[in-house]
Amino acid sequence: MNDPKFKIGDKVWIGRFEPHTTKQIECPDCGGTRHLHVTLWNGEEFDIECKGCARGYDPPSGVIKVYTQRAWAEQDKITGMEISSRGTRYSFEHWDHHYSWEEEFVFDNEEDAKKSAEERAAAYEIDDTARNLAKTKDHKSWAWHVSYHRKNIKEAQRQLDRSTEALHYAQSKAKDVL
Ligand SMILES: [Zn+2]
Repeated sequence: MNDPKFKIGDKVWIGRFEPHTTKQIECPDCGGTRHLHVTLWNGEEFDIECKGCARGYDPPSGVIKVYTQRAWAEQDKITGMEISSRGTRYSFEHWDHHYSWEEEFVFDNEEDAKKSAEERAAAYEIDDTARNLAKTKDHKSWAWHVSYHRKNIKEAQRQLDRSTEALHYAQSKAKDVL
């Protein structure tokens, strides 16, 4: 284990990042067209609304919102430290809040702290975008949706045919009686 790089009372730099703005990217499922073309096993083709870029009950928009991160460095004074087998952790206490950081995220200069924050922000942005996109990858349930409604239509059609037949039969019987 290395000796701690800093001591209590040292003024150090810490890299931070937080969600800043949002940007929109084209929906990867429908390519911004807002719908998907579906072909069933029996050759039937039709369009369904894209679920990837639809939020809740809103119609699909063709775009997906992703967050961009803002990274910066700030200076603070170490007020405590904790040394364990995992390494050194520094704490920063203020009258209204306190936080702590692993040594690898604490620097003696602004430039390195900012660079570290930018790297973490970029990695977070990629993860966050991947999470957003993962939400759109639900093709199975869409396909299920389509076949469910097709089945319902077929079943309704069968009912209609049966009822129509029954009605014709009843009408012909009625005629016989008359
Ligand atoms: Zn879409």
